[in-house]
Amino acid sequence: MISLASKLPNIGTNIFSVMSQLAADHKAINLSQGFPDFECPPELINLVSKHMRKGHNQYAPMPGIPALRERISDKIKSLHSVTYDPETEITVTAGGTQAIFTALAAVIQPNDEVIILEPAYDCYSPSIRLLGGLVKTFELSSPDYKIDWDMLKKLISSHTRLIILNSPHNPTGMILAEEDIRQLTHLTQNTDILILSDEVYEHIVFDGEPHLSMARYPQLRERSFIVASFGKLFHNTGWKMGYCVAPSWLMAEFRKVHQFLVFSVNTPVQYALADFMLNENFYLELKDFYQQKRDIFRELMLQTRFDLLPCQGSYFQCVKYNRIANEPDTEFARRLTSDFGVAGIPVSAFYNRRTDEHVLRFCFAKKQETLEKAVERLIKV
Ligand code: GLN
Repeated sequence: MISLASKLPNIGTNIFSVMSQLAADHKAINLSQGFPDFECPPELINLVSKHMRKGHNQYAPMPGIPALRERISDKIKSLHSVTYDPETEITVTAGGTQAIFTALAAVIQPNDEVIILEPAYDCYSPSIRLLGGLVKTFELSSPDYKIDWDMLKKLISSHTRLIILNSPHNPTGMILAEEDIRQLTHLTQNTDILILSDEVYEHIVFDGEPHLSMARYPQLRERSFIVASFGKLFHNTGWKMGYCVAPSWLMAEFRKVHQFLVFSVNTPVQYALADFMLNENFYLELKDFYQQKRDIFRELMLQTRFDLLPCQGSYFQCVKYNRIANEPDTEFARRLTSDFGVAGIPVSAFYNRRTDEHVLRFCFAKKQETLEKAVERLIKV
């Protein structure tokens, strides 16, 4: 017998794969895993094949092709009035998840403490553990999942290496407010605490609110890795393209890991993205595009017995099912998929302690007809 001690003994297949598979098995409408059910722009597909035919098929430079890094720098400059140097402060990654893992791997030493706010995107904890870090969780509660900074402060110790933030937040759709930024600035001032800011839904913020990127605030920017995703911008999550920006001293460490994890990422897609990014209206209009979907979905859901939680950003709507059932959210999510034909994500999956407040997450990055069909089924629940 060959023996092996698992490095992640308590981790099974992640909830997105599980629920998407269950949805497929039951031919259910899949509002679980977050991805659009509509196409990415055909021009972008044409650009990829154009660049493939032009011969852009070998390794890209390790941090990404210069043109794409320049476009990213221009985008951040026009959004947040700050310059990230494409040479030293921007790296193109194979999606947000790779950027997150790489940033963590670049800075976590054994027994370093990393603070995460739960519910938290599912890759944070296992990545920290795998790297020998200690996960310190701070639990947020429905309905508004607001951060109590006085309580959060109590988690800080001399071993705190990093705080992971995520705004707009997956799964709750919450966004950071100016007061949160003030508190975070105060909390990290005169410390060595770094920030990993997962901003993959940066362009999906509703009701005229601004996206408060770490890039905007010098005292936060100087200690932050900011992670972004092209899949969320251009409706092509399956292309697995994203990027990370950070001050050069942090980015230098990031690249040391990146070069051995992936070396570089998809060349023709980088060229295509660099061309397509010139069309900045595409991503600037995303907030209106998704706000309309949010509003339609919320309006339709009023006919059901689910209770809507607030949604300020992202393409996720959380709902409570207290008026419908009393079973654990994982069981309810399964039953909803098998018996009623609609799949969602049980929010307990985003808590280490599996805290269950009877909340499900639905993805509304779907065609209107998909949302209508799903709600027709949810009305029957
Ligand atoms: N980000 C997507 C979500 O939250 C899922 C990505 C994945 O399946 N790993 O649903």
